[in-house]
Amino acid sequence: MCGIFGIYGHPRAAEISHLGLYSLQHRGQESAGIVTAGVGGSPRATKTMGLISEGLKVAEVSAMNGDVSIGHTRYSTAGSSTIENAQPMLARFRDGHIALAHNGNLINATELRRDLEDGGSIFTSTMDSEVLLHRIAKSSATSPEAKLADALQGVEGAYSIVVIIGDTLLAARDPRGWRPLVMGKLADCAVFASESCALDIVGATTVREIERGEIVAVDRSGTRSIHPLPASESRKCVFEYVYFARPDSSVFGESVDRARRELGRRLAKEQPATGADLVFSVPDSSNSAALGYAEESKLPFELALIRNHYVGRTFIQPTQAGRDAKVKVKYNAVKEVLRGKSVVMVDDSIVRGTTTKGLVAMVRSAGAREVHMRVSSSPITGPCYYGIDTPNREELIAANMSVDEIAGVLGVDSLGYLSLDGMLESVPSGPAGFCHACFSGDYPTPPPADPEKLRFGCGC
Ligand code: 5GP
Ligand code: SF4
Ligand code: MG
Repeated sequence: MCGIFGIYGHPRAAEISHLGLYSLQHRGQESAGIVTAGVGGSPRATKTMGLISEGLKVAEVSAMNGDVSIGHTRYSTAGSSTIENAQPMLARFRDGHIALAHNGNLINATELRRDLEDGGSIFTSTMDSEVLLHRIAKSSATSPEAKLADALQGVEGAYSIVVIIGDTLLAARDPRGWRPLVMGKLADCAVFASESCALDIVGATTVREIERGEIVAVDRSGTRSIHPLPASESRKCVFEYVYFARPDSSVFGESVDRARRELGRRLAKEQPATGADLVFSVPDSSNSAALGYAEESKLPFELALIRNHYVGRTFIQPTQAGRDAKVKVKYNAVKEVLRGKSVVMVDDSIVRGTTTKGLVAMVRSAGAREVHMRVSSSPITGPCYYGIDTPNREELIAANMSVDEIAGVLGVDSLGYLSLDGMLESVPSGPAGFCHACFSGDYPTPPPADPEKLRFGCGC
């Protein structure tokens, strides 16, 4: 998964992108970058592995001139965690320069790349997104939006992108709209971001979501919108509401906090924990869902797990050994809250079960008498091909075990997941129009030809 940001027409565009990326750090922590172009500067890129605060130095960013900028935060798997794969990508071609930042996964990238390579194209990264650069450069259309439209014809899969072609900033979403992308305004400048929390941090106001299949272009001639791609059914990623987006954001035009609380309330109705003394969350991702659960079940919400905020998301650690060690580094239990109590531990999802198992052991050794685990999504039974780097089926605990078996492995007294219907009925403007493939097996596209390569290729 990744976070993307773009701004047009600001004399300090790079600094605004830098600030915006701070609010998109949760969407990717492996690498980050900023590109600037436009009036007052020649095209420049800066990229870093790791966190924005550590790698992107303020002085360096401030020295990047130009009034157009895009930025990117990225996470992927171990195989592709290299600086060559950091975004935004910047390339020069016969008409000038192109820069691109992508959130999503192109499911026919392998085929598209093979076609380009057959025609003599040379690639500098293993990212699926690089095919878009080549396809833009190959287009003989004259306007930037027509070039991008040309490039996107026949591209399958998930993409929310921000692109600079010459002095024009463009933003586009695939026709199914898997990933969010919002447009905002900062004084007279157009701003684009994966989530509205990145508009908040720079002081921009929200204008609207980029529509499915839409390309928006902004330059000195104004703002233009085209819908050049064949229409498809909406397939917004439900996991954005469950886990990925920040609760202070609005994605797909709706509040993430409201969605999560409703998921928690519905979970309490479907999976009550009779006789429990209190509810707690696994901070931070399940805070809002746990509040919803506590409210609905009329149980006190307590802070029983404390998270160390100087450690990144556990799941993002590329190796299993790294993930195991990180559970204790990342969380500690509050004995005074847990001792002798029957407790409800609410989490948003279980992927491999590794973190959860460690947490249950921690909660028990802190003195909890009974541990009832409640999950505000349905069991994850399949991989994602559309931009969330969930592991292969073999590593997904719910793909291989029944709920009772999982409860045994985790060491809980009871385990209850939200039903698929409950999940889809709880998210704003549900239940139709969502992708829920990793929960239901109902994939909106045929699986990619080479899923392994896809995972290691991009993992945005
Ligand atoms: P597990 O017990 O499966 O190892 O980890 C469960 C935890 O992983 C939950 O707290 C959930 O919030 C988190 N999680 C679920 N999906 C993702 C993901 O795509 N990325 C990251 N970083 N964490 C995730
Ligand atoms: Fe989201 Fe799951 Fe669909 Fe991937 S498969 S886009 S994570 S709902
Ligand atoms: Mg979590």
